[in-house]
Amino acid sequence: MEVLKNYINGEWIKSSSTETIDVVNPANQEVLAKVPFGSATAIDVNHACESALTAQKEWSKVPVMKRVQVLYKLKSLFEIHKEDIAKVITDESGKTKDESFGEIQRARENIEVACGTPILMAGDVIEDIATGIDEMMIRQPLGVTACITPFNFPSMIVFWFLPYAIATGNAIIVKPSEKVPLTMIKIFELINQLDIPKGLVSMVHGGKETVDAVLEHPIIKAISFVGSTPVARYIYSKGTANGKRVQAQGGAKNPVIILPDADIEMSTKIIADSVYGCAGQRCLAASTIVTVNDEKRKVKDALYETVKSRTTGYGWNEGVNMGPVITAESKTRITDLIALGIDEGATALLDGRNTNVPGFDNGNFLSPTILENVNLNKKLIKTEIFGPVMSLISMKSIEEAIAFVNSGNYGNMACLFTGNGASARKFRNEADAGNIGINIGVAAPMAQFPFSGWKDSFFGDLHGQGKHAIEFFTQTKVIIERWPNIWSRKF
Ligand code: NAD
Repeated sequence: MEVLKNYINGEWIKSSSTETIDVVNPANQEVLAKVPFGSATAIDVNHACESALTAQKEWSKVPVMKRVQVLYKLKSLFEIHKEDIAKVITDESGKTKDESFGEIQRARENIEVACGTPILMAGDVIEDIATGIDEMMIRQPLGVTACITPFNFPSMIVFWFLPYAIATGNAIIVKPSEKVPLTMIKIFELINQLDIPKGLVSMVHGGKETVDAVLEHPIIKAISFVGSTPVARYIYSKGTANGKRVQAQGGAKNPVIILPDADIEMSTKIIADSVYGCAGQRCLAASTIVTVNDEKRKVKDALYETVKSRTTGYGWNEGVNMGPVITAESKTRITDLIALGIDEGATALLDGRNTNVPGFDNGNFLSPTILENVNLNKKLIKTEIFGPVMSLISMKSIEEAIAFVNSGNYGNMACLFTGNGASARKFRNEADAGNIGINIGVAAPMAQFPFSGWKDSFFGDLHGQGKHAIEFFTQTKVIIERWPNIWSRKF
C-alpha cells in the first residue's frame, strides 16, 4: 500500500516518519493509502520551513502582477482537472458528486479573488501630512506561513488561505487533515506545474505532532487553522504565545428560526438541505430549528415530508443526496448523541441510526434524523453533533428565539426565515453570530467576504478570504519622509 509523500522544496519526498495511519473510504472502509504520522514528522516540518524561507526571500521580490500570473494558471488547471479532484473528494470524504464539485468551485473562486491582489494590497499615501513631510503605508509579506485544515472540505478550506498567501509574497506550508490527504495530493500535482520558487508552497502530512512542530517553529510567522473548537483554542493560545499571528476557526451549532410568515414549502426544503447536506458535516450546517407559533404543525409536517425522502448512499452514485459520515468513530459518536437527546426527553420523529445501503454494508451511513422537543436545559442542545441530525424546538416569539440563539456558546451562523422585512432587520441586528442568513440555509460568505465566526467559533481578529486574508498575510509598514530642498543634492 502506498505511503503518501510530502511535497517539500518542489519535490515529492518520503516522510522522516515510518509511522502511518490508514486513509479510508467512508462508504466501504477500503484503505486508499497510508499517511505519515507521529513525532518524526517534526523533521519534515523543519525541512519545509528551511526551503520555504529561501523561496520566500526570492518570491517577495517578484512584482505582484507577476505573482498573480501563477494563480491564473492554477485556476485553469483546476478547471481542467475538476472531475478527477471531485472523485477523490468523494472517495475519501464521502461527499456526493454535487457537493464535491461545489467545494471545488468555492476553492476556485478564492483563487479568482486573490488575482485582485495587485489592487487589494495597495497601500496609502498622504502628501504633505505636515509641512514638507509625506507619509505612506505599505503592505509587506510576513514570510513563511502555514495552514492546518479539517476533514470536511478537503479542497476548499486550504484555498481560503493559500492563494492570498502567495499573491501577497509569502511562502505557505499546508498540513491537510490526515483523514483526507489525497485531495491535496491531487492539487499539489497541479501546484507542481506552477512557475514558482522551489519550496514556496509545500505540504507536510501528519497529525497533532506535526501541528505542534508548526506551532513551535521559529521560521513560521503566521498560522491559519480550521477545525474543532478545542483544537482551535489550543492553536490560538500556543501560536500567539510563540509570537505568531493566528486565525483559528472552530466548531459550530447553528440555529435557524422559522417564523409563521415564512414561505413554508420553500423554507423547509432549504433548511433540510442545510441540515443534511454533506451529511451534516459542515460548520455552517443548520442544527437547531426553532419554529415560532407553529401550533398547527405546518413547519414540522413540511420538514418531515421533505426530509423523509432523502436518499443515503455512496456519493458518486446518481440520485444519492447524502453520503456517509467520515469515520466509524464519528458514526458511533453521532448515534450516541441521538441516544443522549432521547434520554434527555426528545422524541425521534425520524431515526436514522439503522441504515443499510445495499452493496456498501460496511459504510458509515446514517439517514436523516429529526429529534423533536429537545430539552433546552440539558447537554445535547449545546453540543456540536456534526452529523445528519436536526433538533426541532418551538418558541412563542421572535424575541424568545433570538434570546435562544444568543445563549449558545458558538457563533458561526444564525438564520431566519420570514416574509417580514422588519423581523429580518431585527434579527440581522440582534443575532450574535458572524454569518447571518435571511431566507438562506447555509450563509457561507463568498470569496469576496471574510468567512466570519464569533464566540467559540473563532479565535483571532482577521478571518479567511477576501480583504481580511490580504490583511492577515501582510504587515503594514508606515514610512514618514522629509526631503527639504536644502538637503537635496543639486545636479
Ligand atoms: P479537528 O479539530 O479534529 O482537526 C483539524 C486539524 O487539526 C487536522 O488537520 C488535525 O490533524 C489537527 N488536529 C487534530 N487534533 C489536534 C490536536 N489535539 N492538536 C493539534 N492539532 C490537531 O477537526 P475535524 O474533525 O477535522 O473537523 C471538524 C471540525 O471542524 C468541526 O468542529 C467543524 O465545525 C469544524 N469546522 C469549522 C469551520 C469553520 O469555518 N468554523 C469549517 C470547517 C470545519
